Amino acid sequence: MTYFGNLKPTKGKIHISKDQCKGCGFCVEYCPRDVLELSEEFNVKGYHPPIVKNEDECCYCQLCETICPEFAIFVTIKNEEDQGEKVESRS
Ligand code: SF4
Ligand code: SF4
Repeated sequence: MTYFGNLKPTKGKIHISKDQCKGCGFCVEYCPRDVLELSEEFNVKGYHPPIVKNEDECCYCQLCETICPEFAIFVTIKNEEDQGEKVESRS
């Protein structure tokens, strides 16, 4: 398959550190694909962390990771051509 520049299809995984979350809802509100929702459960801090309700819709844009003020959600990216998982996250 021919790709243009770096526009390769990506796969990945969403990771949520639920006890780090403060339940602000930014990730839920600003996800362009409506992938996340706040759960009914409480974390150790008494907040409702997000859960993934529709991972198939995720485009792995990492916006949720970028805007989370608590570093509680991040996305690992795996390019289809890679054998191993290539992790791209802010440090
Ligand atoms: S990576 Fe993008 S599409 Fe996927 S959950 Fe985060 S904000 Fe939504
Ligand atoms: S943006 Fe971060 S702190 Fe806010 S609800 Fe999402 S995971 Fe929790």
